[in-house]
Amino acid sequence: MRFTPLIVLIVLLLFTGSILPQDLKCNYCNKTIKGNYLTTDGKSYHENCYRDHVQPRCELCGKVIDGKYAILDDKMYHPVCYTDHILPKCAICNLPLQGKYYTDYWEYSFHGRHSSELPECSTCGRLICEALTGGGFELGDGRFLCGICNETEVSGDFLLGASVSYVRRLLESNGIDNLPDEIPITLVDRQKLEQLASSYSDAMNGFTQHNIQIQNGRVISKSSHIYILSHLPLTMFRAVLAHELLHVYLFGRDLELRSDICEGFCNLGSELVYKDIRSEYAKFRLLNMQKSQDPDYGYGYRKMSAELDRKGWRYLLESLSSIR
Ligand SMILES: [Zn+2]
Ligand SMILES: [Zn+2]
Ligand SMILES: [Zn+2]
Ligand SMILES: [Zn+2]
Ligand SMILES: [Zn+2]
Repeated sequence: MRFTPLIVLIVLLLFTGSILPQDLKCNYCNKTIKGNYLTTDGKSYHENCYRDHVQPRCELCGKVIDGKYAILDDKMYHPVCYTDHILPKCAICNLPLQGKYYTDYWEYSFHGRHSSELPECSTCGRLICEALTGGGFELGDGRFLCGICNETEVSGDFLLGASVSYVRRLLESNGIDNLPDEIPITLVDRQKLEQLASSYSDAMNGFTQHNIQIQNGRVISKSSHIYILSHLPLTMFRAVLAHELLHVYLFGRDLELRSDICEGFCNLGSELVYKDIRSEYAKFRLLNMQKSQDPDYGYGYRKMSAELDRKGWRYLLESLSSIR
């Protein structure tokens, strides 16, 4: 929340010469005052000296200021000049931002009231409107998607193959290999995700279902099926995919970890993607993970991120089962 400065008042008094104090000197020219004079701030001036040399001028229009003025960075303005030309404008309604206002992550400043009037994009946090996002969409499952995020949204098979090979390469370069060749990926809405996951959290954007086939008491095959929220922007889709592929990795190694260690570890996959892509959006999503209050996706992630910083990928992978 930010504030714009207040309007202040110059107190200026005009005296007529009839009640002149003895030997009153002008504070500007230092000559004795005879006739009308002005006082302000405890100082007296010849009317002309004041008007021509002392009276403040508006930094914007250059005309003298009488009475009220606004001050910003030690510069003075007529209230109207200030409101119309100096005050920042609301990025949404274009009216001046007077008093309290908000600035979002994307550095758009707007009146606080718009936050309750407009829906927020579920992936980038922008308020959805024509001015900020070129409109947006309400998805059937209660999520909103802004026009900017919608430009790269993943809703069909298009780009899926490219994303899978990109994420696999990124994971492999950090020692996460031996993932099964074919892992089915299905895009789902929030309700479906909620049904699939036994313990559901709002911070969840995907889910991996593991299947084990047992015959005569022996495991004969293991497979995984990845579900990811549909309509995620490509960058976030890739980050969620990396998270889910790490679940597949853990499953392949029979590593059953405590939920905060497990989700925290898998979020390191998302972190890899965001740090690799480095767009403003990727930075925003990373910040979101770093600030998350979720016990697994937030606290667990920060715990595992610190482990990774200490150990590096190779030693982290080797020591996963011993982390407490
Ligand atoms: Zn004077
Ligand atoms: Zn002015
Ligand atoms: Zn506004
Ligand atoms: Zn968005
Ligand atoms: Zn997970």
